[in-house]
Amino acid sequence: MTDLTALTAAIKDRRDDLIQLTQDLIRIPTLNPPGENYQAICDFLHKRLRASGFDTQLIRAHGTPGDSDRYPRWNIVARREGGSPGDCVHFNSHTDVVEVGKGWTTDPFGGDLIDGKIYGRGACDMKGGLAASIIAAEAFLQVYPDFHGAIEISGTADEESGGYGGVAYLAEQGFFSPKKVQHVIIPEPLNKDRVCLGHRGGWWAEIETFGEIAHGSMPFLGDCAVRHMGAVLEKFETDLFPAMAARRTDMPVVPEGARSSTMNINSIHGGMAEQADDFTGLPAHCVPDSCRVVIDRRFLVEEPLDQVRGEVEGLLEALKAERPKFDYTMTEINSVLPSMTDRDAPVAATVAAEIANVMGREAEFVASPGTYDQKHIDRIGKLKNCVAYGPGILELAHKPDEYIGVDDMMDSVEVMARSLVKLLVP
Ligand SMILES: [Zn+2]
Repeated sequence: MTDLTALTAAIKDRRDDLIQLTQDLIRIPTLNPPGENYQAICDFLHKRLRASGFDTQLIRAHGTPGDSDRYPRWNIVARREGGSPGDCVHFNSHTDVVEVGKGWTTDPFGGDLIDGKIYGRGACDMKGGLAASIIAAEAFLQVYPDFHGAIEISGTADEESGGYGGVAYLAEQGFFSPKKVQHVIIPEPLNKDRVCLGHRGGWWAEIETFGEIAHGSMPFLGDCAVRHMGAVLEKFETDLFPAMAARRTDMPVVPEGARSSTMNINSIHGGMAEQADDFTGLPAHCVPDSCRVVIDRRFLVEEPLDQVRGEVEGLLEALKAERPKFDYTMTEINSVLPSMTDRDAPVAATVAAEIANVMGREAEFVASPGTYDQKHIDRIGKLKNCVAYGPGILELAHKPDEYIGVDDMMDSVEVMARSLVKLLVP
């Protein structure tokens, strides 16, 4: 008990450090796309973690999507060995942030501290979580320098664009082999009292309908691809959306609405190319011969990917049979399978127990509507013992005036540090 008192004190002492670290991370604008300043943030983390006794490796994901000399995909993996052999606990955070967007009342890269909240793009998703894991490890190391096993902290690129230049690449290089790492905590913003066991799957495809160009005054001489796409969208409305809404998963997905299958129409385009904002001309009169949509289909652990794909294809084939001159192509853009850790897995049970100890209420087990890097740790690394646990409020991710609460971070630091004690101090 004395030891946990010392740990709690070591965490309390670091409150200002936690704020400063979070602000420093926010002030490095690691926008993705295009994937800016990955090297700068890795250098920053390298200095920080070296000073705390970690060995660090900087790894560039050569040849992965987006990697170039202008925008190199840099990652950092830091490891600190304990006094004797044991398990390795790995904290993985992505360093990239999404575009700023409109509607901010604070500086997106200022890291302003206002009423106990630190504002900025990435504050919640997930530089606050990264800072919390570093402070948790540093406080733990001060009190338990002779722990068993090892602690790893990684900062990885490109999670917001699929993680191929980040965790996927590291997993391919063996960094998440179960021989090397036994427990993974990803401090994504799922709220400080929830353990996230995994995520739904995703399937992205482009559908194109075809027509025939003709003069707009005589559309009967051509064939309008946009009208064909209208028929596709109507089919989705009458058949696909109701069928998806009727399916419910046993995964504890939050928010509740995502416990069904869902699909977003990501974009639609047909006919004349869009012109620049300052274009003052009038449109030429043409019947469009092509229309494209991109669909973003999120699916449940109970749905095989083949079925997800086949369902959309089936509707398009039905249209082909019933609608004159209807023709289409469907091109898959990407797919990600669902991932789900057992709630009795050691890391899930440990973090849940420490949430109860710190927060004084039972932890909630959840699953994420969207995917995150757990898929690569599971599918490529073959490491199942992985959860997401972090301090941010899920609904703030990617929003204007995104923030992280300092008290929430402090609570998460305590949960993370006490989890290290459970897993690494016999
Ligand atoms: Zn994230």
